Amino acid sequence: MNLPQMFGENVFNDQVQKETLPNEVYKALRATIESGKRLDVSIAGTVASAMKKWAVSKGATHYTHWFQPLTGLTAEKHDSFIEPEGDKVIMRLTGKSLTVGEADASSFPSGGSRVTYMARGYTAWDPTSPAFVKEGTLYIPTVFVSYTGETLDKKSPLLRSMNAIDKHAKRILALFGRQCKKVSTTVGPEQEYFLVDEEEFMRRKDLRLCGRTLFGAHVSRGQELEDHYFGMLKPRIVDFMHDLDEELWSYGILSKTKHNEVAPAQHEMAPVFCTANVAVDTNMLTMEIMKKVAQKHHLACLLHEKPFEGINGSGKHNNWSMSTDDGFNLLNPGDRPEENTLFQLVLAAVIKAVDDYQGILRASVASAGNDHRLGANEAPPAIISVYLGDQLGALVDSIVKGVDYVPVKVEKGSIGVPESPIFPKDATDRNRTSPFAFTGNKFEFRMVGSQANVSDANIVLNTIVADAFACFADELEEAKDKEKAARKIIARELKAHYRIIFNEDGYGPDWEHEAARRGLLNAKTTADAVPVCFEEKNIEVFVRQGVYTRAEAIARADIQLENYCKIINIEALTMLEMVKRDIIPAVSDFVANLCTNVAAKQSVCEELPCSGEKEIITTLAGLNDKACSLTGKLEGELKNINLANVGVASQAMAHSVIPLMDQIRECVDKMETLTSSEYWPYPTYFDLLYSVNN
Ligand code: ADP
Ligand code: MG
Repeated sequence: MNLPQMFGENVFNDQVQKETLPNEVYKALRATIESGKRLDVSIAGTVASAMKKWAVSKGATHYTHWFQPLTGLTAEKHDSFIEPEGDKVIMRLTGKSLTVGEADASSFPSGGSRVTYMARGYTAWDPTSPAFVKEGTLYIPTVFVSYTGETLDKKSPLLRSMNAIDKHAKRILALFGRQCKKVSTTVGPEQEYFLVDEEEFMRRKDLRLCGRTLFGAHVSRGQELEDHYFGMLKPRIVDFMHDLDEELWSYGILSKTKHNEVAPAQHEMAPVFCTANVAVDTNMLTMEIMKKVAQKHHLACLLHEKPFEGINGSGKHNNWSMSTDDGFNLLNPGDRPEENTLFQLVLAAVIKAVDDYQGILRASVASAGNDHRLGANEAPPAIISVYLGDQLGALVDSIVKGVDYVPVKVEKGSIGVPESPIFPKDATDRNRTSPFAFTGNKFEFRMVGSQANVSDANIVLNTIVADAFACFADELEEAKDKEKAARKIIARELKAHYRIIFNEDGYGPDWEHEAARRGLLNAKTTADAVPVCFEEKNIEVFVRQGVYTRAEAIARADIQLENYCKIINIEALTMLEMVKRDIIPAVSDFVANLCTNVAAKQSVCEELPCSGEKEIITTLAGLNDKACSLTGKLEGELKNINLANVGVASQAMAHSVIPLMDQIRECVDKMETLTSSEYWPYPTYFDLLYSVNN
């Protein structure tokens, strides 16, 4: 394999554009991509025909507008290139077909922003993310909007939020005498996942329908030996990762790092970062490709946040920063951060934004799946806080306290990385518990769920930081002595938002008490986290930055709650089906079998000991009865829920349905440990987690 040659071979990237487009068209297209200049529609026809010719040479017969509706997944509708000409057909892609498409908006969630006359939705080409050929189809990344212009997807608000950063970051840079064409947000999402044997997976209804196990007694060997993290890869996993890398590379995805994660059967892939919207597209594609490549290896790739209870779940560390078109990273502290006013101002803006809007930042990562991680004795907690590390923490402390900054000594030969000797990356575990950590020249937002579309988190991050920039720029543009005014703002804002900084261990109840004392939010469930999105202040920031209209902001929060209710509903129904049809009958059969054995023993000789069997019979019969009555209760609870009212329904899901499901699970897991494996209807945690043995 010639890696440099095959890298990006399925992508209509810069190089291909240069080779296939007339020079002036190429330049116009690059101007749109690189500096955000509005696309000149007159070039669309030429781009379309070059794109088609290239795609056909790669074996494509169809094209699709590829978009990201609010379902959280991607959507595509394939059209062939053919057009009749006499008795024959020709292959054609017109400028219009490239730039606009129609999709029935009424079949996608719109949270009420749609009324019937808006049922028509449009997809519009996003030239800033490259098109690619996959399985005989040309994929054209697009945004999805309604007839009246409401956004119906996750991509268009992301692009709008990136524009907001661009606009206000440039104002800040200009104040410091730095000119540039464009400021982009950069994102590198580290993707965690589990791999289990496909055969075992297929035998678990819960994994197939819900993506996670609803039952499963803990296995005797979990992650306590801490031997899986960075451990040696099994040959079958090596083969999978090898194929995955090749696939990803062919789509121009910069898959860089791969390793085993903390839990058994858990792994991670980290790409090299890129512009936020491209990172979102490629992450969606990565998740799809992971599943597909897994199938090829007779594995199932689990992207759920918590496939197994009792061991770590999966997240997606969202590494985030901002950088100019000439490569200047706004979060680079440089050699002397104590003298770097621009860096301090940017840092103060991020800290202010995260504190002021911790509610919507928390809500941006809330989902039924992620509720099992956040706030459930697993890092990171549900409380938003900012970790700065020792060095930067000391600098901020000195500014807040108005004392001289004494740099924290970095010992020679320590873990310092060459490019940032002052801020060695903190590789300690304590750092890993922080939900929002400064890591050298970027922030790492660790609350994002493993199956989430990373747009959600980045839309909020971009919007709130842009808003803080705007606020600082308004003030500084009026000031005579910019440097002095900037230092004043930095000290004032760091003081005002000092409570959000937390450099200690984020595990455990101590931090919960301390966070409550500081007045930080701690919403443990989606039902409790999302309602802040309806608060005036939180709607206004989106409106002010041109990211959502009021109606869009409300519709999105509604959809999020609706989605949450639907998922819990499916999980509850799956649970009922499994318990009633498989587990209760299996336990009953096993108990009957034990009874027969006891009767047989006693018919031979009444003195034969059988108190062990009798004890198991009594316990299991009792638990099976309990399972029966609990399922009845759960059914009753579900019947009472009106899914049309998502506010009330989500509360019932979080605080009545889930606790009942927990009780059922507890009961079933106990039965599992007492029931003969011959009778147990499903693969156990042992079967699943240790299914890949070589
Ligand atoms: P780790 O978190 O395991 O220490 P790194 O810090 O090297 O690993 O990188 C983690 C991720 O952060 C990678 O995906 C990397 O590309 C990304 N990253 C690095 N710099 C930036 C940046 N300026 N903006 C966004 N993401 C970045
Ligand atoms: Mg990381």
